[in-house]
This record gives sequence, structure tokens and C-alpha cells, in this order.
Amino acid sequence: MSPVIPIRAAASVGCADAPVLKERGQREVFCGLTGIIWLHRKIQDAFFLVVGSRTCAHLIQSAAGVMIFAEPRFATAIIDERDLAGLADANTELDRVVTRLLERRPEIKLLFLVGSCPSEVIKLDLSRAASRLSTRFSPDVRVLNYSGSGIETTFTQGEDACLASLVPSLPDAPSQAAPDLLVVGTLADVVEDQFRRLFEQLGIGSLQFFPPRQATQLPSVGPHTRFLLAQPFLADTARALEARGAQRLAAPFPLGVEGTTAWLQAAATAFGVSPAHFDAVTSAARERGTAALARQRQWLEGKRIFFFPDSQLEIPLARFLSRELGMQLVEVGTPYLHRQHLAQELALLPSDTFLSEGQNVDNQLDRCRAARPDIVVCGLGLANPLEAEGMTTKWAIELVFTPIQGYEQAGDLAELFSRPLNRRLRLAA
Ligand code: SF4
Repeated sequence: MSPVIPIRAAASVGCADAPVLKERGQREVFCGLTGIIWLHRKIQDAFFLVVGSRTCAHLIQSAAGVMIFAEPRFATAIIDERDLAGLADANTELDRVVTRLLERRPEIKLLFLVGSCPSEVIKLDLSRAASRLSTRFSPDVRVLNYSGSGIETTFTQGEDACLASLVPSLPDAPSQAAPDLLVVGTLADVVEDQFRRLFEQLGIGSLQFFPPRQATQLPSVGPHTRFLLAQPFLADTARALEARGAQRLAAPFPLGVEGTTAWLQAAATAFGVSPAHFDAVTSAARERGTAALARQRQWLEGKRIFFFPDSQLEIPLARFLSRELGMQLVEVGTPYLHRQHLAQELALLPSDTFLSEGQNVDNQLDRCRAARPDIVVCGLGLANPLEAEGMTTKWAIELVFTPIQGYEQAGDLAELFSRPLNRRLRLAA
């Protein structure tokens, strides 16, 4: 049985007080509509109706890659020139589209009206529309709204806005109930099942996941709820849960063996699981994860990596890659730095890590070109030009679509970085 990996942060401040370069300027990111792609797969009886333009429709249709005859659970109600010119009543049109949709798709139990740049520009009040339609279609269908607009946001904020809009609908947990654990943030079903088994073996049986797989199985929440964030981009959702009395368990995020251990440990400590039992439950999976990482380390150790701000996963990824695979961090850019939620992560980063928040893409490209890192993590819009300049890139969005959390995925996560490096080596040979 291997010992639990010691977390150096307890004695070290790492990057907690390190200076951060704050930048404002042109940004290269996807908008929050992108979240629909993984959210519609997770909540299997929900439907996402984007109220937007043809551009919005193209974005999610091409990103999701769903054939039209597959009855996808998302669509776009197109705002056309007549709406923009004020010649048509957009609310009447929206009611008509929603009515037709719900008549045709009776399996829909939860409908999100998703705002976009165009709906915000014409100031279409989707919260009033959602409450009007919810009253009309209740109790069969709940209608909620959130914004996926790309104005001043990055793509993972779509999930945050979606989940935050759902929190007021969560039922109250009974006031006399024993503490229960809520895992917050979309995880692939395979990862969720692995974590469920581990929590059950630890003896934390009162366990719920948010979002749930079915809208009809919303978790209850209240002052007895302790929640663990599974994703680092859920600031508004966490705030909404805290307003319902739930308490966040501070932890690093479950990336890599170390992050997963510390994340599980935070729950184990809160629920009084003994260190010996924790060790017994997690040791086999930790050993498998550690062995998988050892196989990847030969490709990644000493390699220099540069993060452009995109997914908000950058800081946990940087911690994983530097501590468990020996990579060198050239720059770690993040769209937003939530110091409270990332406190445990920052404490684990090397103290000389160059952190930047926000983006001025030209300045950052200059820094990247000057540094010539071995690999660059960036959005799709930057990847091709950088590859053309001879740099090796990794698409940030792939890290959100791929199951990467937990022990069993630690090796796969490392391979997402070693594969492009190996491909470049083979091309150069
Ligand atoms: S919401 Fe805005 S940024 Fe996103 S696709 Fe529509 S117009 Fe473009």
C-alpha cells in the first residue's frame, strides 16, 4: 500500500502572493454558448434554445457536430432583421417557437432559453420570457434562462451561468438531515461513476452530483450541504449555493494523482473518514495513476509549456504538469483568477511562476514567440497560426470535452500533452 502523497502546500505559500500581470485588450476565446455542447449531453432531458443569430447557430452546430436527423437537444431561435429593426415582437415570436418545440418534443422537462450577443444587444428580457413560459407550461416543463453571450466572457462561463440559473430551483434539504456531499460541475459519466464508487467506499453515502443526469432528479441543498467543486470555473454557481446555506470544501481540483487525492481528502476530512480507511480505499487507484504518469514523464519532463488564457483550467493544469510530470511553466495565463477557489492550487505552484490574468493577445503572442516554448496551450484561433510558425500546440477546448479528472484518467491527461510533442518529433525526424 503506498502512502498518501504529501501536499507541500501545507508548509509553502507557492504562488499565493505572487504578482499577477493583469492585461486588457483583444481576446481570442469562444463564447459561453460552447458549454451547451457538454451540458446537453449531461442533462439528458434538458433542451437548450439559443436566442441568437445565424452565427450563434453555426457555432454550436459545427462545434457539436450533430446530424440534424439525430433530434439534437439544442437549437437556435434566429433573431432576424425584422426583430433587430423592431418590426416584429420578438417575445411573440419566441412564445410561438417554444410552444411548437414543446408540442413536438414532449420528453423535454427543462428548457433553457440561452441569451447571446444579439439578444443582449436588442435587450430582449429572457428572464421575463422564461418566467412567463414557465407559468404557462408548468408543471410539465420548467423554463429557465441564462446568458451565453461572448461579450466579456469566456467559454466555460456558459456552464457557470447555466448551473447558477438552476440553483434557485433545487429543492430544500430537510433541516434535520445529516450532512451530505454535493459534487458541483459537469463530469463525464464515466468519471462521475468512478468518483461515486470511491465516495461510497469511503463511507460518504449521502452523495449527489450537480448537474444531475436527469432534470427530474435535481439535488437538494441547504445548510447541511458540503460541496466540492469539480471544475474551477463555477464562481457564480458557488455563490448561489452558498446563498442557500451550503458550505464549500476548499480543495485543489481533481486533476492528476495528487490533485485527485487532495480533492477526495477534503471530503474525507469533512466527513470524518479515518486516514487509514482513506489510504485503504484510494491506494490501488493511486498506484495505477502513478504508474501511468511515470510512463508519460519521460516525454514531458523538462519541457517548457506556455498557457494562453482560455478554459480557466490553466492553473490546475499547470500545477499538475509541473509537480507530477516535471514540466517547466513559462507563462500561465488565465481569463480570470478566482483567488479563493484557486487558493490551494496557487499554493502548489512553483513560487516563481509567471501568472497573467485577462488578455492582450498581441502582447502575449510577442512573449510566447520570444520564449519559444516546447508546447503552447491555446484556443483554436491561435493554434493554427502558431503551428505554422513551428510551435507545438494543444487546443484548450479539448481539455474540457475529454474525461480528464480522477486517478484513472491521470495518464490520459498527461498523454494529451505528450502526443502533440511526439507528433512534432516524428515530423522533424
Ligand atoms: S453569442 Fe455572440 S460570440 Fe457567441 S456565437 Fe453568438 S454572436 Fe458570436
